[in-house]
Formats: sequence, structure tokens, C-alpha cells
Amino acid sequence: MIVFDSDSSIPVSLLRQFCFCPRIPYFSLVRGISPSNPGWVEDGIIFHDKTKYLIKRRKFERYGIMEPKFKFSVYLKSSNLGLHGICDAIIYDEERIIPCEFKSGSLKNISIGAKVQLYAYCIMASEKHKIPITKGIILSEKSDNFYVLEINKERTEKFKLLLDKFKNSIFTDQIPHSSSSERQCSQCEYLNFCSDRM
Ligand code: SF4
Repeated sequence: MIVFDSDSSIPVSLLRQFCFCPRIPYFSLVRGISPSNPGWVEDGIIFHDKTKYLIKRRKFERYGIMEPKFKFSVYLKSSNLGLHGICDAIIYDEERIIPCEFKSGSLKNISIGAKVQLYAYCIMASEKHKIPITKGIILSEKSDNFYVLEINKERTEKFKLLLDKFKNSIFTDQIPHSSSSERQCSQCEYLNFCSDRM
């Protein structure tokens, strides 16, 4: 499994998984363990195809975008952050850009990892296009509303601290401490490798 690209940047998806449990990127990158793709990977591809249709029917006027254009599955990379990944969509017009992620479930319980992933895409898209980005959004097929993630200086500092913690965890020989709950472990593909959780 190739996870690092040619200049050693790390996939953003692993940062999201780090937020779920710090052991997951450790197993994947340090130990090289890759469980086979579960069925939901295929479900996710079908869902994302459906969402391309749905997003074009949504109204973006309230975010100042009157005639939105869309790019889907946009590759982003930041050598400053050492991260790369594929953002579900970028909504844009002449003046602004809003990175967007899709979610199949409700907008009520968006995980920290999903917010952190979107935050990373906002910073990466801002670097790529050399314009300030003030928000990203998460869209659900179950709601006409959006979850809006504001980008600001304070949050960016917190994001960078988290990123440092994440990178430290994958350059170590020690299995990271995890405070994951029984419920989290029961749905985790790495359960067989966590002897203290079985
Ligand atoms: S089984 Fe639990 S502790 Fe182990 S990697 Fe998964 S979530 Fe983390």
C-alpha cells in the first residue's frame, strides 16, 4: 500500500482517522497493516455519485455565491502542511471558493475527524488558489441545510497543533494511547490488532 507520495506528504484521510483513534494511522503507516476494503467503500462511491446531482440543486446565495460552479473530487496538496487528499467538491465563482464534503448521515453528529479533514482542505485550497478561504461546508443528502465550518486564525493554530501531534504519533515505535470507547472499537477494522481491547 502506497500512503506517502513522492515528497513524503501524508493523506488527509489518515488525519481524520487519527481523530477517531490515534492507533489507526500508527497501524497503517508504522506497522503497514491494511485491512481489506469493507463493503462501505463501494457504498461510498455510489453515494458520492448521487451527491453530485444533489449539490447542483442546492442554493448557495446565502454564502454570497450567486452563480456557483462546481469541481468534484479535487486533488489538493500542501507542502507546508505535508498533507494531500481529494476534496469531495469545490464550489466557486469569480471571487470565492468553498470546499465541500459530503456526508450520508445527519448533520447533527458530525465527527471531529470530518471537521478536521474539511479544515485541512480549506487551508490547502487557500494555498493552491492563493486566496483567503473563510469557510467550508458539509452537505448531507438528508437535509437542505449545510454545516458551516468557519476558518479563522485561532482555529488554524489549533489545527496545526493537532497536526504536529498526529505526525509525532506516526514517527514512533510505541503504540499510541487510545481512549476509544467500546462502541468505537466494536466498529473498528483494527480490533484484532489491539490486544487490550479484545
Ligand atoms: S480497536 Fe479501538 S483502540 Fe484499537 S485501533 Fe480500533 S478504535 Fe483504536
